[in-house]
Amino acid sequence: MKITQVECFPLKIKPKQAYLGGSADVDAPDYYYRDEYRCVYSRKMETSLVKITTDNGLVGWGEALAPVVPQVVSEIIKNLFAPLLIGENPNKTNVLWSRMYDAMRDRGYLTGFMVDAIAAVDCALWDIRGKAVGLPVSELLGGAYRDGVDCYISGLPAPGIAGRVELAKSWKQKGFKAIKMALGYGVDEDIANLKAVREAVGPEVQLFIDAHWNYSVSDAVRLARRMEELDIRFFEAPLLPENVTGHAELRSKTMIPIAIGETERTRFEFQPFIDKRAVDIVQPDVGRVGITETMRIGYQAETHDIAIAPHLSVGLGPCIAASIHVACALPNTKILEFQPSVFEVANSILKAPITVEAGRYHLPSGPGLGVEVDEEIIKQHVLDYKNA
Ligand code: MG
Repeated sequence: MKITQVECFPLKIKPKQAYLGGSADVDAPDYYYRDEYRCVYSRKMETSLVKITTDNGLVGWGEALAPVVPQVVSEIIKNLFAPLLIGENPNKTNVLWSRMYDAMRDRGYLTGFMVDAIAAVDCALWDIRGKAVGLPVSELLGGAYRDGVDCYISGLPAPGIAGRVELAKSWKQKGFKAIKMALGYGVDEDIANLKAVREAVGPEVQLFIDAHWNYSVSDAVRLARRMEELDIRFFEAPLLPENVTGHAELRSKTMIPIAIGETERTRFEFQPFIDKRAVDIVQPDVGRVGITETMRIGYQAETHDIAIAPHLSVGLGPCIAASIHVACALPNTKILEFQPSVFEVANSILKAPITVEAGRYHLPSGPGLGVEVDEEIIKQHVLDYKNA
């Protein structure tokens, strides 16, 4: 079996609601800077898909998380990786991962768009591997520890506390047992939000906080200590991601588990957090890391009694399916993220939907990733882009 074709599909989809709330129907540039999160967001749903074809007629789909400029990932795959892949056996996922990672390693491209592009290709290769033998990816990864994975509602995109409380109650009624609030607005405001939601949903719903890297060590410690009485189950992105020692200091001063990892892309980037005992839960995103490397990170974490809770934000189909397979195939998975507004758009590009019921993703059972991308639909959203 040999790879014969690599095609790229950078997508830009206009959703009803923008990611993290707000209206998408704005006549404004696609990209805008959110001061409170110090980060660029898109008013559209963007992603970067790759389709790999083999000489025996198999097709594998992969996806890189590409919330902005998805065409960058496509360019890297088309111009840099395709020549390394054509003619190769897609079963060689480790070998091809190394070849792609090595391609720009000497030049210092150890993360970012480069590894996003590797992740997309790696995901497509695993899809082919599964289809070639008629087995789901989770079985090829060594078998599923569970037939589905619990998930948490990510963010309560309402403007005020009352609105967030109502959203939290409605998710609880739908059977969800875990909610993460996107905060980082200051210690007092964060506590007010968490307290209101805790009172509304009771002790049986797990609550998490994502602070979007907004705190200093001292403020994060103050917040964490006040969160202990609210039974907050993890504190995500408390400090800027480069501050490994700060995370270790924070972790030594609170019982709240520290979660990091959506900015990290390889086991090399997680290792300093592990060495310094700075993390309780790692959160790699399969759309940034790929299946091969996320499995390695999962076992790297397990070796040190650390859990994995994969990040999942604007992945639109193959990325979600790949995340479920990986989450089911690792022994130390705590929970997987669920983005309601993204999920609907994701399923709109698939021939049969990925399903979530009462706070749990079902593990797709078909060969490969177990999902089929609807090529006619994605062609309506693809950026003006020529596959050479
Ligand atoms: Mg986050």
